[in-house]
Amino acid sequence: SGRTGPAAPPPRAMTIAGSDSGGGAGIQADLKTFNALRVFGTSAITALTAQNTEGVRDVHLVPPEMVAAQIDAVLDDIGTDAAKTGMLGTTAIVEAVAERIRYWRDRLGPFPLVVDPVMIAKSGAPLLDEPARDAVRRLLLPLATVLTPNRHEAEELSGIPVRSLDDARRAARALHALGARWAVVKGGHVAEDAAEAVDVVYDGREWHLLRAPRIVTRSTHGTGCTFSAAITAYLARGYPVLRALQEAKAYITEAIRRAPAIGRGHGPTCSFY
Ligand code: PLP
Repeated sequence: SGRTGPAAPPPRAMTIAGSDSGGGAGIQADLKTFNALRVFGTSAITALTAQNTEGVRDVHLVPPEMVAAQIDAVLDDIGTDAAKTGMLGTTAIVEAVAERIRYWRDRLGPFPLVVDPVMIAKSGAPLLDEPARDAVRRLLLPLATVLTPNRHEAEELSGIPVRSLDDARRAARALHALGARWAVVKGGHVAEDAAEAVDVVYDGREWHLLRAPRIVTRSTHGTGCTFSAAITAYLARGYPVLRALQEAKAYITEAIRRAPAIGRGHGPTCSFY
C-alpha cells in the first residue's frame, strides 16, 4: 500500500546552452530554475566552461554533431513543452541547433522556443564568436517565440544603438521584423541610474513594459540565463506569453534580491526560493 503508480507527467523544458562549472549561469542556472518552477528539465550542452564567480578561465566547445545528438536523444523519447537556447559558441553549433529545432517542431508540433542570444560574459569572455552573430540573426531569430537580448545584444542584432527606452522600443520592433515573435529588450543595462529596470516588449502589434525596482548588487551572475529559463518554464506550464514574461520578471527580481553570498566575484542570483 504506500506505493502508488507514477505521478502525472510534469511539464517539460529543454535548455540548449553552455555549462558553467560555478553553478551560477548557463545549463546549471537553467536546470535549477526549471526545478524551482516545478518543470522537468532536460539539456543539450554546447560547451564546457571552466568558470567561477570571478570569470571564465577556459572554454571547450562540443562538436555540433554531439549537440544535435543530445537534442535528438531527448526529444525522440521525452519530448518537450518548451525549449530555450543560451550560449552557442560558433556558427556550426547555431546551424545544427536551428536545423534540429525545425526538424523536431515538424515532428512534435511547434513548441515555444526562447532564444537568449548570449554573446559575452559579464567578465568579458566571448561566448559566441563574431561570425556566429550573423547566423543567430539569420537562422535563430526566425524560430524564436521569445527573444531576450540585453542592451548590447539588441544593438549587435538590430544595428540600433540603445541608450533610452525609446531606442529600446525601436530595437524591439527591428528584432520582431527579423523574425522574433516576441522581442524583449532587457533594461538592466539601459538607464542604469534609473530606479526601475524596465524591459521593453514588442509583439508585432504593440509595446508592453515589464517594470521592477532596480536592485543594486554585485550578485548578477547568471541573471539573463535565469530570466530566460523562467520564461521557458512558464511557457512549458502553458502560460500565455505576456503572462510568462511578467511572472519571469517577478521571479528574476526576487532571485536577484535574495542572491546568496557565494564566491569572491559576481555572485549568482538565487534560484532556489
Ligand atoms: N557562462 C555560460 C555558460 C553562460 O551561458 C552564460 C550566460 O549568459 C554566462 C556564462 C554569462 O554569465 P554572466 O551572467 O556572468 O554574464
